[in-house]
Amino acid sequence: MPRPIQATIHNAALRHNHQSLRVAAPGARLWAIVKANAYGHGIERTFEGLRGADGFALLDLEEAQRVRDLGWRGPILLLEGVFEPRDLELCSRLQLWHVVHSDEQIDWLAMHKTHAPQRVFLKLNSGMNRLGFAPERYRAAYARLAALPQVDEISHMTHFSDADGDKGIEAQWAHFQRATEGLPGERSTCNSAATLRHGARAEVRGDWVRPGIAAYGASPDFPEHDAAHWGLRPAMTLSSRIIATNQVEAGATIGYGSIFTAEQSLRVGVVACGYADGYPRHAPTDTPVLVDGVRTRTLGRVSMDMIVVDLTPVPQAHPGSEVTLWGCGPNGAQLPIDEVAHACGTVGYELMCALALRVKVNVD
Ligand SMILES: *Cc1c(COP(=O)(O)O)cnc(C)c1O
Repeated sequence: MPRPIQATIHNAALRHNHQSLRVAAPGARLWAIVKANAYGHGIERTFEGLRGADGFALLDLEEAQRVRDLGWRGPILLLEGVFEPRDLELCSRLQLWHVVHSDEQIDWLAMHKTHAPQRVFLKLNSGMNRLGFAPERYRAAYARLAALPQVDEISHMTHFSDADGDKGIEAQWAHFQRATEGLPGERSTCNSAATLRHGARAEVRGDWVRPGIAAYGASPDFPEHDAAHWGLRPAMTLSSRIIATNQVEAGATIGYGSIFTAEQSLRVGVVACGYADGYPRHAPTDTPVLVDGVRTRTLGRVSMDMIVVDLTPVPQAHPGSEVTLWGCGPNGAQLPIDEVAHACGTVGYELMCALALRVKVNVD
């Protein structure tokens, strides 16, 4: 028997989540964001669940090639654009749309020899201060692009830094409106948080929305709203089994560094899951976990291949009992990845992207 840890990808959940996102941003076209190997879920494994989208957006040319190899003929967008001039040849060959965020990328386009003009998304830096043209330089970049025979349609995009928080989108949205006012071309501004929170506003949702994390069933603004609030279902389950149980006496410690001391006698289970599987090493004692679908907690330090869980709420648990690290458990039980991430001081994004190569992945 192989080591019992496994991940399961739920394509029905991906389809359901896309449906929820279409309801949140009615009439907008939907990019399936599959960067980072579909947020750790796997591009090939999620293709059936995501192919109802209007396009695929990603970062690596290698990922774009994989989407084309799956038979996808619709739009593919490179979210950071090209990294060097010869990438433009692959854009021509694979018919990729690409983001233009720098003068250098425009220089490369101007030198590119092609018979087929390329579709680009011009990126405004509206306040995130990572990629994009500053508002006062945006129209000049647009004019330069519009004059190039290598360029076909030009669309407009920006990325919000605070769509999930108190600061919100209004200041950045105002920059975007001012910079793009009167220019022809489609518009795309919304990540998951903006799609769910502001997608009802036609001018904000624009022509294309770009929800990543929500499609995978995590909430972009947990703990303010959980995934269920947004009508999202987990697209990934990480599960394993108990491989041993122990009675730990009062005063005894558990795991490396002896950071947990039992205050009273406790029955504990050892789970075949550790940081080498992608479970976060910094998960503290009390991180939630399900055993046989019953909620309990981790105890002590996460080690490479094992964690220890409290069996007090599940006295019938035994070696072989099913453990749900996140996602869907037995009997309809669920453990949202956001709750596990929150206990670890991080976000669901990081946990799903970190799923380790040694974990076998099933698709249901
Ligand atoms: C990753 C990414 C998104 C998706 O963000 P989520 O928070 O996962 O919805 C949208 N737009 C761009 C440009 C991105 O890089």
